Amino acid sequence: RKPVIAIDGYSSTGKSSISKVIAERLGLVHMDTGALYRGITYFALQNCLNESGEIDLPLLFSKLNEVHLEFSELENELVLLLNGKDVSKEIRSNEVSSQVSLIACQKEVRDFLMETQRSIAAKGGVIMDGRDIGTVVLPNADYKFFLTASIEERTKRRFLELQGLGMPSEEHEVRHNLITRDKIDSERSVAPLKQADDAILIDNSDLTKLETIDLILSFIKD
Ligand code: C5P
Repeated sequence: RKPVIAIDGYSSTGKSSISKVIAERLGLVHMDTGALYRGITYFALQNCLNESGEIDLPLLFSKLNEVHLEFSELENELVLLLNGKDVSKEIRSNEVSSQVSLIACQKEVRDFLMETQRSIAAKGGVIMDGRDIGTVVLPNADYKFFLTASIEERTKRRFLELQGLGMPSEEHEVRHNLITRDKIDSERSVAPLKQADDAILIDNSDLTKLETIDLILSFIKD
């Protein structure tokens, strides 16, 4: 049976890109759970704003049954489809990044996404990255890792990622967004961001992406 692997950690520690490569190497399905929270946030910004332009949470909760999120393979890339439309780029916008942690605090939203996440893992052979995978979503995962890195290094990585997506931003804004999200994610009452007791802690401030991948793979037995 193929393993179930949980990767949690702070924002921009490389969780998703690292998980993607490990999935390819081990023949696993990769699920970026942050993309699901971003997808709901994008939906809310499109469909659930009140007159002052803020997200109306009760309205969002009442419309969750209209939200269909799935990952689909397009030109060898896994893209996120929101009601059939590819929103992979939109969900990386600053607007989504600045609202997503508030949406992710909502129990209704977390419950809604739980089913999607657990049903994928039920078949085994999966690597899932997020904030509460090892603690809440997959407490019985075969392997759990928790990634961290210095804020300077994470800011640099996120800044370059946004540049690559053609979404240039100010470095101080990127840094502020990472710090704010990590704070909200760590302090929320439902499924807060934290290292599972049985997770292996990896600080990759001084490691390249490939070095981090090799380190993780060194713990996984065939
Ligand atoms: O992983 P990413 O940075 O794209 O996640 C965006 C946001 O989604 C996080 O800052 C967090 O608020 C939320 N999230 C979460 N639980 C997860 C994955 C993401 O609360 N498992």
